[in-house]
Amino acid sequence: MMPLEHVAAFGTVDGQLRVGGMPLDRLAARVGTTPFFAYDRGLLDARLTLLRATLPPTVQLSYAMKANPMPAVVQHVARLVDRLDVASGLELRTALDTVVKPGRISFAGPGKTEAEVRQAVAAGVLIEVESRTEMIRVIAAGDELGLIPAVALRVNPDFAVKGSGMRMGGGPQQFGVDSEIVGDLLSEFSTSGVDVIGFHVFAGSQNLHAEVIAAAQRSTVELLAGFADALPQPVRYLNLGGGFGIPYVERDRPLDLNVVGEALTALVDGSIAERFPEAVPVIELGRYIVGECGVYVTRVVDVKWSRGRKYVVVDGGMHHQLAASGNFGQAIRRNYPLVVADRLDTDSLAGAEKATVVGCLCTPLDMLGNDVTIPEARIGDMIAIFQAGAYGLTASPTAFLGHPAPAEILA
Ligand SMILES: *Cc1c(COP(=O)(O)O)cnc(C)c1O
Repeated sequence: MMPLEHVAAFGTVDGQLRVGGMPLDRLAARVGTTPFFAYDRGLLDARLTLLRATLPPTVQLSYAMKANPMPAVVQHVARLVDRLDVASGLELRTALDTVVKPGRISFAGPGKTEAEVRQAVAAGVLIEVESRTEMIRVIAAGDELGLIPAVALRVNPDFAVKGSGMRMGGGPQQFGVDSEIVGDLLSEFSTSGVDVIGFHVFAGSQNLHAEVIAAAQRSTVELLAGFADALPQPVRYLNLGGGFGIPYVERDRPLDLNVVGEALTALVDGSIAERFPEAVPVIELGRYIVGECGVYVTRVVDVKWSRGRKYVVVDGGMHHQLAASGNFGQAIRRNYPLVVADRLDTDSLAGAEKATVVGCLCTPLDMLGNDVTIPEARIGDMIAIFQAGAYGLTASPTAFLGHPAPAEILA
């Protein structure tokens, strides 16, 4: 997607980007400082409406909070989804402050400590068990607190999902229990003080290929059907993961959500209804819900030329938005969409020229736009970087070089 398609999604007023319905210069005045992250409520609502309209109605939608754990965002999203998925004790606390009932909060991730497990059991949330040790910890916490914890077993499948930006299933993994030992684990703990309500498979993140996602969901159901009889009660929870991606760089094509929705409807009406008649199917998404709703806004502090190349230096950088610098798991650095947010009028756009946008950190890694075509940016102008709603601030090395932290708002 081109930067101007992202501009169109947010809208403009008088040649300026609009965020949360407000011209960006006014929003910046409201925030009082740059850099800042702004998340647009209207875009969040539209994304969730689209998901609801496209996914089958019996599928419950879970928000994976690690994509954006800002409490205001979580509170907003919590009213529009069925469940929340947390991956740390702090995320758990934020989730418990929302309207979502503890029984609809799941706790995933490797390396849950005894203390975190105890917190989760006391809260009454669903624990997605990633190992035998973790199962023992859950049972011990339940014994101590006089509770029967609900757990779902996270399974590391015997297949991988091609085309994921980050692979989290198939082959050797720190995530989940290998599918070939699931049967043994379930029989070992079949009479202990724990209620295994179902299964969880999450095999990868940032996938733009609808057919691949659909095939992975079918394979997941087939794999889990083999374990259904190993539980003393019918399977009540079937978390098929997610991994829906968003386009970051020019060559990325957006995910065809309709194809995913149609395939999932067929799966729900077919083998899920047949093999798991009492299960609630769950799709958990982080990036797809919040990623496109956020912009990272910086201000130009210097414009300089070096041996024929023009550099635009901004007051933010990779310490706030690591992914835009290409250092968050990308194999090859490609530019994220960015614009000079106060020069979106047709004359300025017509006069666009090549420039390289860099952050304020004293390292060549702090590159935000390599040789991009943008209108003439002057000191004081704002540069907005799109696709900043997920894995932005909390996935960045904020202490690196000791510059101030950015502001963060839900607009
Ligand atoms: C990170 C994670 C997610 C969210 O992934 P996205 O690609 O942001 O949708 C969902 N489930 C689990 C278990 C995760 O670890």
